[in-house]
Amino acid sequence: MEQKITHHLTDDILMAYAAGTLPEAFNLMVATHVSLCDECRAVVESYDALGGEVLDQAPGNDIALTPGSFAATMALIAGGTPDEIRTPRMRDAVLPQPLLDYVGGGFDNVKWRSVGMGVKQAILPTSKDASARLLYIPAGAAMPDHGHNGIEMTMVLQGAFQDEDDYFARGDVEVADSDMHHTPVADIHEDCICLAVTDAPLRFQGLLPKIAQRFARI
Ligand SMILES: [Zn+2]
Repeated sequence: MEQKITHHLTDDILMAYAAGTLPEAFNLMVATHVSLCDECRAVVESYDALGGEVLDQAPGNDIALTPGSFAATMALIAGGTPDEIRTPRMRDAVLPQPLLDYVGGGFDNVKWRSVGMGVKQAILPTSKDASARLLYIPAGAAMPDHGHNGIEMTMVLQGAFQDEDDYFARGDVEVADSDMHHTPVADIHEDCICLAVTDAPLRFQGLLPKIAQRFARI
């Protein structure tokens, strides 16, 4: 049975997601979390409903389009290839749906790179304003201790980790800001796989040499 998610995304992040103002990496985090979390999905849906209402009430939302726009759109629809849209969706035990395209397939397709001490990462291709990566932390191993220049969110996809205050299992999100220094440790029972997004480069505290930091983009 799936364990209950106890660490959620904040309302301001969910609102920004509904408004469409987040960097791609953070959109990916929210989409991945709400694919596992009914509670946050309901919050996003309520913000979406609010957005729909605002659009509905907006003065000037009946601004006329160029003559012929409707016919042109209908012609494009008629000429489309609906078969492409109906590609069967694959399922993966570790990676929720929103991550599959970024990895180019299932979990077996993840291109890991070692960042030392058994920890591996795979950078996901997103826009440059924020970064997203998958992290692989061996069971019982510590994640490198680091501070943050901006906001970092880490969501567990497999296994679990523990920091000084709390325990995070599949679906749980830890939100860390620039004041936070912590040393999460992966649960001993299973290797821990996480999705981590950050809006600024992480500053590792001496565990990884600066040169590795540059190459690994962490
Ligand atoms: Zn949630």
